[in-house]
Amino acid sequence: MNYWVAGQAASSGDVVEVRSPHDGALAGTTSWATPQDVERAVAAAHAVAPEFAVLPAHARAAALDHVSRRLAERADEVAALITAESGKPVKWSRIEVNRAVSTFRWAAEEARRFSGDLQRLDTDPGATGRLALVRRAPRGPVLGISPFNFPLNLVAHKVAPAIAVGAPIIVKPAPATPLVALLLGSLLAETDLPAGSWSVLPVPNSAAGGLVADPQLPVVSFTGSGPVGYSILETVPRKHVVLELGGNAAAIVCPDWTDLDWAAQRIATFAMYQGGQSCISVQRVYVHRDVYDAVADAVVAHVRKLGTGVPRDPATDVGPLINEAAAERVEAWVAEAVEAGARVLTGGTREGAVYAPTVLADVPEGCKVVAEEVFGPVVVLAPVDSVEEAFDKVNASRFGLQAGLFTHDVRLAFKASARLAVGGVIVGDVPSFRADQMPYGGVKESGTGREGVRAAMDDLTEQHVLVLTGV
Ligand code: NAD
Repeated sequence: MNYWVAGQAASSGDVVEVRSPHDGALAGTTSWATPQDVERAVAAAHAVAPEFAVLPAHARAAALDHVSRRLAERADEVAALITAESGKPVKWSRIEVNRAVSTFRWAAEEARRFSGDLQRLDTDPGATGRLALVRRAPRGPVLGISPFNFPLNLVAHKVAPAIAVGAPIIVKPAPATPLVALLLGSLLAETDLPAGSWSVLPVPNSAAGGLVADPQLPVVSFTGSGPVGYSILETVPRKHVVLELGGNAAAIVCPDWTDLDWAAQRIATFAMYQGGQSCISVQRVYVHRDVYDAVADAVVAHVRKLGTGVPRDPATDVGPLINEAAAERVEAWVAEAVEAGARVLTGGTREGAVYAPTVLADVPEGCKVVAEEVFGPVVVLAPVDSVEEAFDKVNASRFGLQAGLFTHDVRLAFKASARLAVGGVIVGDVPSFRADQMPYGGVKESGTGREGVRAAMDDLTEQHVLVLTGV
């Protein structure tokens, strides 16, 4: 597949084979963008920025609607490509495509209404007759760096808001999963967006630093792991850097929750979906002691029903991790917990890159499966004596993306929202719920800034004030 330089297809002799982590089958080939092509893409983004910033909203919205429509038309093919390159079970790839369709559609709608504010200033005698118009202007060309685990929708969350506000965007996809981002490029190429306003450049990690440091790209929007994200922030502290990082999301099951089996089924599904390789997959579950045994038994029963298997089979729930090294790391972390006294309620085995869906109990708190981001199909269950205790345990983490709270008590919902140090609380469900238009992001070491189409548009723009006198 070609890569995309300033809207034009390009390739180099430096061929990259992309293989499935499931069986090593060739998913496709592309090539690394040359330094000259990278330079061309950056220069074009810089040059087109003033023109792109004033492109009419209807033109930006039309392009975004086009991409949304074309993704929907080609959904099966796009989902198959996600599965082929990442090993994600196709049932989850289809959901990802549907979400990307919606991300582009929302961006089109937001592009039409994104306006700014009118503010009266005559609240004090010294400002009588004055009025402020607050316009939102793009901060400038954006470098979007995306991870492997949602290789389409997280690229969509970089590209769609940037186009919606009129900021040129250069996407650097994850090296393990560049193909679907390149396919997205072919849909952008069908639009009338100005040349230079977008590029998709596969570059090796060793070459990514040059893009990050380039002064012509004042905004870096990064989704990925903490160590890489913070190293970027340290390299370019004067740029506008958005960091969407990892987590060890928790769910709390309160004693008033009536349908414990449903909660257990949601916990099992969203601890294990795409092999736990989601920044908000359920990793820690704090269950009130009154209902702990019932919930633990039901979680184990539901986890045992999940089918591991061939990712392109629609019946497969859990596929391989992104590579064997990732599965070996998860295996080592579970072994550490077991060594420290944890019990394996189910799972705990590895075959190549596939780690079996695993439920652990009695895990000491300092173990990596509790304290770090597992990013694998492992969930840790623990009883608590009160909801307050659960809140404290959720907060005893250096991460804070989202938390789930199974309760019917609305007062508890408000309390959780105030008490929990997370970017979002999902009441009545797991922390893994995300709608693409809602503000999404973390506190503490889960990141800075927010995505979700409108929130990202706010983040990619700065406020310019125009004060009128004598009005
Ligand atoms: P990663 O940090 O290894 O890679 C992310 C991206 O950074 C890739 O494109 C990679 O090529 C690039 N990269 C690596 N080194 C770089 C460098 N020196 N300079 C510039 N770019 C560089 O992460 P990953 O393994 O692809 O993804 C998993 C991580 O992403 C997990 O921690 C997960 O929680 C996180 N994540 C967060 C969110 C969120 O919205 N908060 C969403 C999905 C994934």
